[in-house]
Amino acid sequence: MKKLGRREMPSGHNPSDFTYKGRPAKDQGDFGTDVGIADACCVNQFGEANNSKHYHGGVVQASDGSWWCYFEWGRVKPGKSWEGVSWTGNSQDFQFYQCSGEAEARSEFSKQMAKKNTKRLERKTISGVTVWAGKAGKDGYLVQSLATREKGLPDALTIKDDEGLSAAAPTPKKAKTRKAKTPTQTFQPQVLKLAQDLVGGVKTYTRALSKASGVTPTLSAINQVRDQLIPAALKRIKVVGADVHSQARDKDLQDISRMTYSLVPRVIPRKGFTDVEAILSSANMLALQQDLDAFESALRNEDFSVETQQTTTTDPNTLLNAQLRWIDPRSDEGRWLAKAFLGMSNNRHGYMGRGNARILNMFAVDRPDRDAKFSAAVAKVAGLRQGRFGLRANLQPKRIDLDGQNSDAYAQAQVIMAIHGTRSVNIAPIMGTNFRLPRSLPGAQITGANFGHGIYFATDWRKSYGYTGHGNAYWASGGQIRGRGFFMFLNDMILGHAYRAPSTGSWGSPPKSCAKCHKPASGGRYTNWGGSGNNYCRCGGPQIASDSVFGVANDSGHRLQNDEHIIFDPNYQRIRYLIEGTL
Ligand SMILES: [Zn+2]
Repeated sequence: MKKLGRREMPSGHNPSDFTYKGRPAKDQGDFGTDVGIADACCVNQFGEANNSKHYHGGVVQASDGSWWCYFEWGRVKPGKSWEGVSWTGNSQDFQFYQCSGEAEARSEFSKQMAKKNTKRLERKTISGVTVWAGKAGKDGYLVQSLATREKGLPDALTIKDDEGLSAAAPTPKKAKTRKAKTPTQTFQPQVLKLAQDLVGGVKTYTRALSKASGVTPTLSAINQVRDQLIPAALKRIKVVGADVHSQARDKDLQDISRMTYSLVPRVIPRKGFTDVEAILSSANMLALQQDLDAFESALRNEDFSVETQQTTTTDPNTLLNAQLRWIDPRSDEGRWLAKAFLGMSNNRHGYMGRGNARILNMFAVDRPDRDAKFSAAVAKVAGLRQGRFGLRANLQPKRIDLDGQNSDAYAQAQVIMAIHGTRSVNIAPIMGTNFRLPRSLPGAQITGANFGHGIYFATDWRKSYGYTGHGNAYWASGGQIRGRGFFMFLNDMILGHAYRAPSTGSWGSPPKSCAKCHKPASGGRYTNWGGSGNNYCRCGGPQIASDSVFGVANDSGHRLQNDEHIIFDPNYQRIRYLIEGTL
């Protein structure tokens, strides 16, 4: 074996001469004889001394049949290695090892990768989850499970990994449409354009993030973060407490964060992160969850076949897995809807200025499969509650869009109109599947989610605007789609019998409450249960199950500016309209 010099191209060869031989490494220490390519990132991503570095290795064979090892390393820069002008002009560090044959190449590759990876890392168990952490003082590298690649010789870019996609829950079945008459459906131009913009926007956003970070996670990597690392982080947050500075100092949470952010993309600024920015804290959790959803959606639209045949569908029903209808603003329906939506505000958000929103587009949304589940839930709650409610939603418009049957069931279950704002790049993922219940852990509160791990709605569009990422939105930034405004869902939501939350909390389901006054069964300043067996409230009402959590504006325990409604069952809502606006 002969090591060539740093940045020395084997004579008589160019970068495109080499082909990787073997599958991608998927885990720490996964450098066996069937593995031919590995990507890793530096475990030390924290602090002002920024270490956004990558390490890439491969077993490659040249067009003349000779065997080599190829290694590449350096600070993560946007874009692909070897891209652009002539290869001599490229700036990444690389090194070739000339090997006597395949066996030697595989053995050298395995040795060198282990030196950067397992030899410098130690395996820990934190909150019941395996986490690989850097040994003290060592600049270790974590193997990443990548769906597509930015680094390595040109052949690396053709190596794609759909790990997890087939094994995971299948893409929801396309809604069966009852359109018996016309065999070829024509779509409104506004709907065609919207579908392309929303789906294209997710791709543009995730690609930009991948380019800048060099990471396009496989669905397996996304699920590892969702199912293992986020719950482990929540457990630590519960122990450490709500203060983000304490969270940033917690050694275990640091190790979980490093592992998490090696698996999923995050752009590390040139100057590096502060400890508080770097940690997977209660403040950074919401953004991470939204990015995971966007990436999953982008992966499902990625073509993983090596011969990239672009099967581009323009059918918006397929693209969005929903049926949309553009509503003419000059129609009776359009005038009613615009007025109803804009009327849903107390105008309490000083930071937004006095301006009103201008509605750009309104769409009616049908998702027959999911809508049927909502109808079933309405029927169930209606039968249970029969319209007897001591706590009702505010800012409710008069509805003209319900038929008599719906209208009755809606009244009996207290179905309300409720708004959900989110980043534009998360609109297509939510519409295409459904709202997702975030990982829950009682006691671990997430910033921007005051009442636990549910699905959040407001009855004031100004409140929801804060989550859109548009303009000076409060809770989110970025994730916009070029040439479009902000988007909000206007939903039917089962409020039913609501639990009146006396203070913020971290619930995973609605707590029981008093049938009459809706206050909690125990705890908090509203504790007013008394009498024998604590089955009756002091007001005389029995304790019953609740359908939703209601944060009432100006209740003394939390002093919210606006009402918030939280459901814990995705079938308790249906997306009725999509509103696009601007300020
Ligand atoms: Zn009561």
